[in-house]
Amino acid sequence: MENTQVQEKSKQIKSTAVTNVAVAYGDGIGPEIMEATLRILEAAGANIKSEKIEIGEQVYLSGNSSGIEKSAWKTINKNKLILKAPITTPQGKGYKSLNVTLRKSLGLFANVRPVTAYAPYVETNFAGMDVVIVRENEEDLYAGIEHQQTQDVVQCLKLITRPGCEKIVRYAFEYAKAYGRKKVTCMVKDNIMKLTDGLFHNVFKEIAIEYPEIESNSQIIDIGSARLAANPTNYDVIVTSNLYGDIISDIAAEIAGSVGMAGSANIGLNVSMFEAIHGSAPDIAGKKIANPSGLLNAAVMLLSHVGKTEIADTIKNAWLVTLEQGYHTADVYQESITKEIVSTSEFADRIIENL
Ligand code: NAD
Repeated sequence: MENTQVQEKSKQIKSTAVTNVAVAYGDGIGPEIMEATLRILEAAGANIKSEKIEIGEQVYLSGNSSGIEKSAWKTINKNKLILKAPITTPQGKGYKSLNVTLRKSLGLFANVRPVTAYAPYVETNFAGMDVVIVRENEEDLYAGIEHQQTQDVVQCLKLITRPGCEKIVRYAFEYAKAYGRKKVTCMVKDNIMKLTDGLFHNVFKEIAIEYPEIESNSQIIDIGSARLAANPTNYDVIVTSNLYGDIISDIAAEIAGSVGMAGSANIGLNVSMFEAIHGSAPDIAGKKIANPSGLLNAAVMLLSHVGKTEIADTIKNAWLVTLEQGYHTADVYQESITKEIVSTSEFADRIIENL
């Protein structure tokens, strides 16, 4: 779709207040899906004033050890909202994850990851799946406290605090209450990590009592994730610690159809950051085939977060109609349902036409 058509579409939709957002284009498929997402937001009249921030390997290589420009911190603290595309993190070596740096430095304590099935338009064995994973986002093994004990022994500390547990568990119950959800399930491994996971579980039991209208239960993470994979429709809201939450949300997204579909909100008291749950997908970067849905769904969460719910709903509906019409990126292709395999930007064009 030409730029003029985007502008025309945007003009037809009633105007709304400006929302200033710090935008990180990331790397890998990041720039491709960000460009598509911003185009849809503009056409929908979301009135996002985006300010680009520099985050990533290039910043690190230029001598900034945090990988985040000073000016980027300023922009983030001014705008208080970030829309972020995925960033590659070196495995087993190299600099600290910039995602973890952002989440910890900005106090983004709750990582909310809704995972929904869109059957039959996106293939899944679990039509009706609609789970929200509330992942603790600052503590646990992601505290990044690792030591070399001897040449052959290394150690990673698992840090869990009562205030951290209280914040995330209360957030999960408040979320359930606000969104009319019926049940909150806690996932821990306190049969083995009796102190750390034990604290998380105890806090869960204490806080659950304050919400008698919401059903609560707890499962050991190993059987819990197995049951989530086998019967995801039995779950509603899941609250868990950082690492477990990271793992089960990828599993949930994949069994719902594709890891490329789910968005997430990283909620803090001052700043909130919205991103897809998936990574930079280096295997398909530059091929123009990435599914922008995860980032788009994150942007929809951003709009709801700032009270632009009507525009959020309009975008979500246009996206759903596009899936129903059978315009699919390659990751969600189905012979019997897909009408046309579209590129990242063609998918965005179809959504804009449906606004
Ligand atoms: P990944 O999520 O990038 O990719 C896993 C698989 O899913 C790949 O086959 C990929 O092609 C596919 N996939 C992911 N997103 C897709 C999309 N939108 N459309 C179509 N297919 C998609 O996981 P990975 O390969 O393990 O990680 C790559 C890099 O991303 C790593 O450096 C990792 O650290 C980083 N990462 C970043 C974030 C973030 O920025 N928040 C999150 C997770 C991983």
